[in-house]
Amino acid sequence: MEFIRSVIPVLSLLILLNGCTKQPAGDKKMDSFISGLMARMTLEEKIGQMTLVTRRFSTTGAVVSENVEQNIKAGEIGSILNVPFDYIKMAQEMAVKESRLGIPILFAEDVIHGFTTIFPVPLGMSCTWDPELIERCARIAATEASANGIKMAYSPMVDIARDPRWGRIVEGSGEDPWLGSQIARAVVKGYQGEDLKLENTLMACVKHFGLYGAAEGGRDYNTVDMSRRRMYQEYLPPYKAAVDAGVGCIMTSFNVVDAIPATGNKWLLTDLLRKEWGFNGFVVTDYTAINEMIQHGIGDQQTVAALALKAGVDMDMISDAFKLTLKKSLEEGKVTQAEIDQACRRVLEAKYKLGLFDDPFRYLDKERSLREVLTPDNLKATREAGSRVIVLLKNAKQALPLKRTGTIAVIGPLADSKRDILGAWTLTNKVENTVTVLEGIKNVSGNGVKVLYSKGANITDDPYLIKTIRPFLGQPPEAQVKVDSPAELLQQAISTARKADVVIAVLGESENMSGEAASRSDLNIPESQKNLLKELVKTGKPVVLVLINGRPLTLTWENENVDAILETWATGTQGGNAIADVLFGDYNPAGKLTTSFPISVGQIPLYYNHLNTGRPMNPNQKFTSKYLDIPNDPLYPFGYGLSYTTFNYSDIKLSSNELQGEESLTATVTVTNTGKYAGEEVVQLYLKDSVATISRPVKELKNFQKIMLQPGEKKDVQLTVTTEDLKFYTNDLQYIWEPGYFIVYIGTNSRDVKRAVVTWKK
Ligand code: BGC
Repeated sequence: MEFIRSVIPVLSLLILLNGCTKQPAGDKKMDSFISGLMARMTLEEKIGQMTLVTRRFSTTGAVVSENVEQNIKAGEIGSILNVPFDYIKMAQEMAVKESRLGIPILFAEDVIHGFTTIFPVPLGMSCTWDPELIERCARIAATEASANGIKMAYSPMVDIARDPRWGRIVEGSGEDPWLGSQIARAVVKGYQGEDLKLENTLMACVKHFGLYGAAEGGRDYNTVDMSRRRMYQEYLPPYKAAVDAGVGCIMTSFNVVDAIPATGNKWLLTDLLRKEWGFNGFVVTDYTAINEMIQHGIGDQQTVAALALKAGVDMDMISDAFKLTLKKSLEEGKVTQAEIDQACRRVLEAKYKLGLFDDPFRYLDKERSLREVLTPDNLKATREAGSRVIVLLKNAKQALPLKRTGTIAVIGPLADSKRDILGAWTLTNKVENTVTVLEGIKNVSGNGVKVLYSKGANITDDPYLIKTIRPFLGQPPEAQVKVDSPAELLQQAISTARKADVVIAVLGESENMSGEAASRSDLNIPESQKNLLKELVKTGKPVVLVLINGRPLTLTWENENVDAILETWATGTQGGNAIADVLFGDYNPAGKLTTSFPISVGQIPLYYNHLNTGRPMNPNQKFTSKYLDIPNDPLYPFGYGLSYTTFNYSDIKLSSNELQGEESLTATVTVTNTGKYAGEEVVQLYLKDSVATISRPVKELKNFQKIMLQPGEKKDVQLTVTTEDLKFYTNDLQYIWEPGYFIVYIGTNSRDVKRAVVTWKK
């Protein structure tokens, strides 16, 4: 009897489904299935579908949901985030077998850069300039996560960020909307694959809509304010690209947009997202974002929940505001039944598209959950990605690649840290499987090398930082900064360095110094580590600085005083091996920056595609746009990254100097590998619209190609420009191109370029 009662909900759903498995999403069968289901749902059950909760496993806010299991049985929970496999299995059984209608739960997770196999952090991934590789890594993450019951990833984060003080810059693809859009598309395709019903696909949830990366002062959650033209031109394109790629879900952001919180902003969530862009998935809020509108000064809980629903929110993350107030608002005529039904339907559609109604347990096979993660192929992929994200910032006196002889001293608080090399946001990682830089160097160097190690410094000795850097997401206390005696650490490190032929200093930020709620006002390597570096340089040994960090840092002293600098970001599970592959030249680094590295925090916001002023910088003239103490330019510009080899660029050849209407332009350069190593190069094309009715950026990335060249080899690289690339938004948001003359730049980064001019007539 007990058994029969438990399978009735499942059976009734299966009868309703009646062979709809093979139907494409958005079809009539789905509509009638959902209509049939909704006809049987109570108001509480409908609002339940619009409710997302969490358990204590990991939280990113002060609030944790209460009475979760009780509410599952009541059929009043639509989705749960960031819970482990065993809990998912238990909760899904409870939902399907014990709730009245047996509607399966949608389990979501912050799969940000891998699931158990951790890939490099997204900012690093963007430095590969390789959407195909990024898509492949997202595919692997989807396979691992879906084998563990997860059907939605809260990524990609596509927020354009031009302020490295903002800790979440690590989660995105940097400062450029065009490159950011390519990457947004690649991640969505990688997760969602061809068919969401396949057992190894995930629904992507693009975030944070919108403009979250433009927080004033780089302080997380802070006010955003910009013109509509700037939104359309510079900040919205990557979200739009994700929508065009068919993303299933979009997450609202914490910030205000035009002084209305994004979560209650009807212009953003309905007029723009649905009416203008045609988005047909569902909208989830960020963590407690509905309730946070009370702090924003928009009203009490009932008011803000109604506002969110009416603005276009379909699912409430953790606020419980829909659950606690929508019924009352309906009775009082403040929201309509149609609005509730619409939101509930969109959530059910997502579940349908994911195949959850076909078989809610398909993703809950324990054996598969273990088999699919950390496979040799997946580890190989993350090692490959790990070496490709690395940007060589400096290489003097051929300090790199290292020789496989002699003694190497590996020094620094990040040199043997498994946790920090994974980077922010790794919920389902296995820390113990992570390869540190020290281990990687031992693995890769071979028998001819003696490897010494010394910690050298604490991450920081600053008591205020020690207090504010909290372990992320309920991680164990050892994730916090551990403070050993600074003087002793330093002495040991100096004596270790003296015994070596070369010093590898592994410094930067701990994983919890970037990511959410991790803004910094100072972008130097923390003082404790910088002192260590100075002492290491004083030994007179060649010093290679290996940086592990989640944001651009200010590196002027380092650039002047160490022999080589590798920006490695956080390279993930195989990070140490990947870094060692680059150090020993088994892979020749080819990463290119996707964010400008400032000389000083005072230059921020700093981005390559800025407008000119009427008084461009001239250090010899007083009344020009400049700082008295430093140049305007970054230390390392957007697109920058060296190689162990050198490349020569020919002048640009244009297919024509004069174009008409919809013709397209081909710009060709010959790139020659003039050095000793085989290597890859990202050939970048930028465009400048010289004269227009509004002021246009000094340069905008419009195309690139990543090529491989053997020593001595040359290649003609052809890059196309079409009238699409000439278009821009006017102040009344017309998307147009204007005839005139354009400058085409091609080069190895946004600063060092060749130049050609073309006239384009209508
Ligand atoms: C973050 C989101 C994340 C959510 C769920 C929030 O604090 O802003 O990016 O997806 O928590 O963990």
